[in-house]
Amino acid sequence: MTAYRDTYVGDLDADAAGKTVTIAGWASRIRDQGGVAFVDVRDASGLVQVVIAPDEVPELADVARNLRREYCVKILGEVRARPAGTENLDLPTGAIEIAAKTVEVLSTSQPLPFQLDDAVETDELVRLQYRYLDLRRDRMAANLKARSRVVAAIHHNLDSAGFMEVETPTLIKSTPEGARDVLVPSRHRQGHFYALPQSPQLFKQLLMVAGVDRYYQIARCYRDEDFRADRQIEFTQLDLEGSFWGQDEVLATIEAVVSDAVEAVRSAPLDLPLARMTYQDAMDRFGSDKPDLRFGMEITELSEVFAGSEFKAFASVVEGGGVVRAINIGASETSRSHLDGIIDRAKELGAKGLVWMVIEEGGEVRSPIAKFLEASELASITIAMDAGIGDVLLLVADESREASEVLGQLRLDHGRPAGHENLSFLWVTDFPVFDVTPDGGLVPAHHPFTSPRSVEELRESPETAVANAYDLVVNGVELGSGSVRIHDPAVQQEVFDILGIAPEEAHQRFGWFLEALRYGTPPHAGFAFGIDRLVSVLQNEPNIREVMPFPKTQTGLDPLTSSPSLVTAEQLAELGIELHPEVRETLEAHPAE
Ligand code: ASP
Repeated sequence: MTAYRDTYVGDLDADAAGKTVTIAGWASRIRDQGGVAFVDVRDASGLVQVVIAPDEVPELADVARNLRREYCVKILGEVRARPAGTENLDLPTGAIEIAAKTVEVLSTSQPLPFQLDDAVETDELVRLQYRYLDLRRDRMAANLKARSRVVAAIHHNLDSAGFMEVETPTLIKSTPEGARDVLVPSRHRQGHFYALPQSPQLFKQLLMVAGVDRYYQIARCYRDEDFRADRQIEFTQLDLEGSFWGQDEVLATIEAVVSDAVEAVRSAPLDLPLARMTYQDAMDRFGSDKPDLRFGMEITELSEVFAGSEFKAFASVVEGGGVVRAINIGASETSRSHLDGIIDRAKELGAKGLVWMVIEEGGEVRSPIAKFLEASELASITIAMDAGIGDVLLLVADESREASEVLGQLRLDHGRPAGHENLSFLWVTDFPVFDVTPDGGLVPAHHPFTSPRSVEELRESPETAVANAYDLVVNGVELGSGSVRIHDPAVQQEVFDILGIAPEEAHQRFGWFLEALRYGTPPHAGFAFGIDRLVSVLQNEPNIREVMPFPKTQTGLDPLTSSPSLVTAEQLAELGIELHPEVRETLEAHPAE
């Protein structure tokens, strides 16, 4: 195959016995047994056991003694069946071994900063500092491979379906997608900045104006958000758009792509079409716009039962326009301290309080509020909640949205399966056009280019207007979002008006885009989903960093290259930038950071 090898080790099996082969890879484990070294040699395809036996081949004595972990080696030897009883059934090459004739050390390795064994937990900072070693581990190598398969499946699917891959620039004018932009100073125009794209949103819309018809791109996106688990300042999306399209075309296209991507990793396609649920339904029944449907525990409405009850704390919430809702978390621990722990958790989630009920042997309801309720009211509750002996019910009284969100989170706390063995995909449709901020302002629920279902609704009641916007969810993880876009510049201006962006400001920020909409823009719609997210779910990984080749830490650091880093005074001067005196002082006080 090459001057270094004539086979990958993963291609060797019992049929290869008797053959002389040359392999190249790394000494991943070395066991010394009375002068004979048993070495697991790893290459990109797998592992094979090599026996270096100086008693049979005296020239190997030195190498048998001096070989160390992760030395890079080229070995020529004879494949032979392992002696009966020493086969390793866990290893695809476990029926054979290679008896070395020559061993050439291609390069040595320093002692490793951490064990490459998957079973050994290593601090993430150290793993990321030595990511090139971390990626040698089976788990990481499998993740990289899965990612590559997913991307290949996406290209294959969309290319066959007639999509055109188009690159869009990464040094752009800021696009409003709800996050903070990552800015890049311009040297030629001092004081001016490019933004890195939060997504190629407006460029893909321009491509629709340009007549591209169906576009896609595996696009790098940048969002300078506050650090949250499972977010990175840069990440990768499949970005897609089609003209003369509505929601149905987007959903069908994405379903086919995702199914192929899933099949590339999990060997089975998805059952299509995927389930759909409206945003309102998702919020009411699961308290989340990304419900995990692998388990039930749906939210039950109990407002009517409490409306006229003697339990005044709840009755008054209902009278004031609020709700009482509950979930049945099933048979669970019923000790007082455990139940009090759930109350604390509910408060931490923003609930004003929580009431628990336990269905005792004999059907009796144990609860701090049982004495305030009539037997018929208790019976209505247990029936509504389908409660059986031993079940624990959690009740919350609050404004509708708050109650559902707290219960939605408690539902996850108590019911969510660990990992992603099974996949439950779901479309959530009919999102609102706007989210209402705590101070009553409106912000786009998706982005400001999303079309309302009806312009009349938008005008009459923007805070409740429904958008042609949809999300794809898997196992409670939001994979991606999309929408039908506004293609009429007048409607686009109306949305800006509602958002409080005056025509002059809109002109200054997006004039170039509004101008483009005036040249016969076709109706269009699209979607984008996170490749990192999809691969992490498919690989059953707890966070996206595990499936990114060179991720940053959760606080945005790259410990491998020490980025972000300071730049020289000359570099700053060229850009016409000076550090703020306070920043300089802090840097002088803590020079290492
Ligand atoms: N640009 C959007 C995003 O990145 C996706 C879309 O609307 O197509 O979330």
